Amino acid sequence: MMIEYVDNELQIKGHPLSEVADKYGTPLFIYDEDEIRENCRRYHHALQKDEIGYSISYASKAFTSIQLVRLLREENMKMDVVSAGELYTALAGGMPAEDIHFHGNNKTREEIEYALSAGVGLFVVDALDEVALIDDIAQHPVQVLLRVNPGVDVDTHSYIQTGQADSKFGLSISNGSALEAIKEIKHSRNLEFKGLHYHLGSQLTEIQPFIDAMEMVLRWLKETDIQIEVLNMGGGYGIKYTEKDDRFPIEEAFEEIINKLKNLCRQYSMALPHIMIEPGRSIVAEAGATLYETGVVKEIPGVSRYVSIDGGMSDHLRTALYGAEYTVLPVKKEEGKEIRSHIVGKLCESGDVISKDIALPENITRGDLLVVKSTGAYHYSMASNYNQMRKPAVVFISDEGIREIIKRQALAQLIENDVT
Ligand SMILES: *Cc1c(COP(=O)(O)O)cnc(C)c1O
Repeated sequence: MMIEYVDNELQIKGHPLSEVADKYGTPLFIYDEDEIRENCRRYHHALQKDEIGYSISYASKAFTSIQLVRLLREENMKMDVVSAGELYTALAGGMPAEDIHFHGNNKTREEIEYALSAGVGLFVVDALDEVALIDDIAQHPVQVLLRVNPGVDVDTHSYIQTGQADSKFGLSISNGSALEAIKEIKHSRNLEFKGLHYHLGSQLTEIQPFIDAMEMVLRWLKETDIQIEVLNMGGGYGIKYTEKDDRFPIEEAFEEIINKLKNLCRQYSMALPHIMIEPGRSIVAEAGATLYETGVVKEIPGVSRYVSIDGGMSDHLRTALYGAEYTVLPVKKEEGKEIRSHIVGKLCESGDVISKDIALPENITRGDLLVVKSTGAYHYSMASNYNQMRKPAVVFISDEGIREIIKRQALAQLIENDVT
């Protein structure tokens, strides 16, 4: 996100953040809409290699809303959903059902019924029992991919690592269960086997795991003599949260991956499949930031300083969940001394931390504003009403101006389902 100090105050696209805070309140999620579009276009550009058919399916779980779905549609993106709620939102935003892919390791009967009646275009089967379940419910042919587990270990946090042999996701290609599922799909009444899916994990920055997975899967296809039309290699492309992080090299990586695919297909005399990818985080994370107002500043002499903000783990869970690190900037730049501080939320958990040990101006006081960068993915979508906190508002900023795309929750909404 292009966020820069102008006259000692942070601005996004010419909008001083104090003005944005005055107008929309805090905590506030801010997205650079143009950057989200740019990110979609980058993937299209990287995949537009003449003879390869491809599609890009945005993973809803990173962040979803009606206006985002509209944007994705305009940028020729499809969508992945894993629940009735994500499907409902995608449809409400106008995503055509045939461009929606239904994922998930435990789809319920109700969800399958809903997705089938809405006309969802593709199901990603994640378990053997799902074959019979979907087949039983379906009244018409349903295209399916099988989620397989290629068994590659990736270097990321174990909570976001998914492609290893011991996982709740997918079926193993090494122990025969993937093969069994494909046989069942082929024997079913309504399911049409289209190909394979794998997702190796998230926040990956290396190309090698994608190459390794493709090699393993294609070799296995050759050995088992299974033909596929579609190869879906998932998402998980890493982004920059702090200076320490590397980004996944999108252009270089897909060049390499597609070359590898072509070579393998030639070597094994296989038809080139249509490829699908599923970026989530890398479309929205760096295009988003959270704006907070500071409250209590507590000095513990000789120990540390705690700066509290008006949100916390209810809108920023990843630090509490897996120690994720973020860049935090004061909206007003002050000359002079900085001191090490912990930024903490206002929720009743000691783990409610946004960032530890960061340098902030010595004279920070109640009413100042802070920005946490790269919060566009897995923040609003993980937001909760813990402590009856209201979910924040969300705005899109583009060259055309600012627009609110999600309103702040009202107090009354917190009890709207309560029986009185
Ligand atoms: C989470 C997920 C993605 C997206 O991962 P990102 O890290 O957000 O890119 C894609 N595909 C599947 C199956 C997922 O579970």
